[in-house]
Amino acid sequence: MSDFRADLALASEWAAAYLERVGGLPVLPDVAPGDTRALLPAEAPEAPDTFAAILADLDTIIVPGLTHWNHPRFFAWFANTGSEPGILAELLIATLNVNNMTWLSSPAATELELTVLDWLARLLGLPAGWHGHIEDTASTATVAALAAARTLRPGGVVYGSEQANFSVEKAARLVGLDYRPVAVDDDYRMRADFALDDATAVVATVGTTGTTSVDPVRELAARCREAGVWLHIDAAYAGSAAICPELRWCLDGVDEADSVVVNPHKWLFTPMDCSTLWTRRPEVFHETFALVPDYLAATSAAVDLKDYGPALGRRFRALKLWLVLRMYGAEGLRALIREHVRLAQLFASWVDAEPGWEVVAAHPFSTVCFRHREADNDELARRATATGELFVATTRLRGQSVIRLAIGNARTTEADVRRAWEVLCASVA
Ligand code: PLP
Repeated sequence: MSDFRADLALASEWAAAYLERVGGLPVLPDVAPGDTRALLPAEAPEAPDTFAAILADLDTIIVPGLTHWNHPRFFAWFANTGSEPGILAELLIATLNVNNMTWLSSPAATELELTVLDWLARLLGLPAGWHGHIEDTASTATVAALAAARTLRPGGVVYGSEQANFSVEKAARLVGLDYRPVAVDDDYRMRADFALDDATAVVATVGTTGTTSVDPVRELAARCREAGVWLHIDAAYAGSAAICPELRWCLDGVDEADSVVVNPHKWLFTPMDCSTLWTRRPEVFHETFALVPDYLAATSAAVDLKDYGPALGRRFRALKLWLVLRMYGAEGLRALIREHVRLAQLFASWVDAEPGWEVVAAHPFSTVCFRHREADNDELARRATATGELFVATTRLRGQSVIRLAIGNARTTEADVRRAWEVLCASVA
């Protein structure tokens, strides 16, 4: 093994330099399937390699084959941020190498997780007293929520909107429940007038993947409450906006739901992965997940977080959230969210003002869906992205292809959004 302190210095220099230069790299790599594998040896090395040699390969083989999510003009899907606090935290997490499966397996990690989830719940305006814990992704969090719902009502149907993320249907499938999509209204919001007779759970989305529409949560909550049906809220993207009081409307009614997931790894400046899940019914999660083998006997009066989700081994993700919340401060996080919303509104105003272009859906957060009326918008987005200057993805709404510009990286500036618009305009054939 080479000298750890020297390697750490190399790694920190590499990380800082990467963040400084990433804005000059092509956002999407110019590679075809198999290109990277062809550059890698078929066998693992017999003899140890030095960190310096591996860093050199990182620069020549891996980085040129990466899509740069930390690029300030990454506007595809839901853009996110590998923030400085998050990067520092990941180093500390691996250094500590804590497995936060039970309280005894790492008491302070369990208590930090419960504490930062309480902090974040308060910042988001969630009800006091809900149990919060961290899962890797919203996909897993929704599996956990639907498994809990199934404990109360086995064998029923999960309803989610036509615009729900596909992870909802996948979660239903994984827990052995049928899934039925519900039609949306003109604003891409789930209709609330469907029959609930055979329902085990309803999943409402706050910030759908396509347009960031917000389902009528309070109305759905009233119906679910009356029918005794579990209501899970997928606020993976937009939930983070609720740290700003003026955007807290998006979680209206969530206090009457049974569970809610928000992804700090989407729009709360936390690197992959960190998904926060709260429930007002922790006892149902416990009943669903608490299997206690002899070798992991519970500690009395302690919370064992393995009893609230599918995984036994659990990373110390709370440390990452702790650093993000402390090093930005709530004010810093609010300022970033507000800036992203401002930039999205500004971008939408440019689209509105430009002949031939149109905004195609409401854009209350940091994502704008738009299209050129005459162009092939898939081709247009591909051409713009092929410049290397930005990355935008497309989706289909009511049979039409539309481009999505999703702002979510802490390093994105107005100049980046302006440049994206110039490149898009220049990409119209
Ligand atoms: N829910 C919504 C609304 C999403 O947009 C996404 C992903 O983009 C997910 C859930 C899945 O998130 P994850 O990748 O954390 O599983």
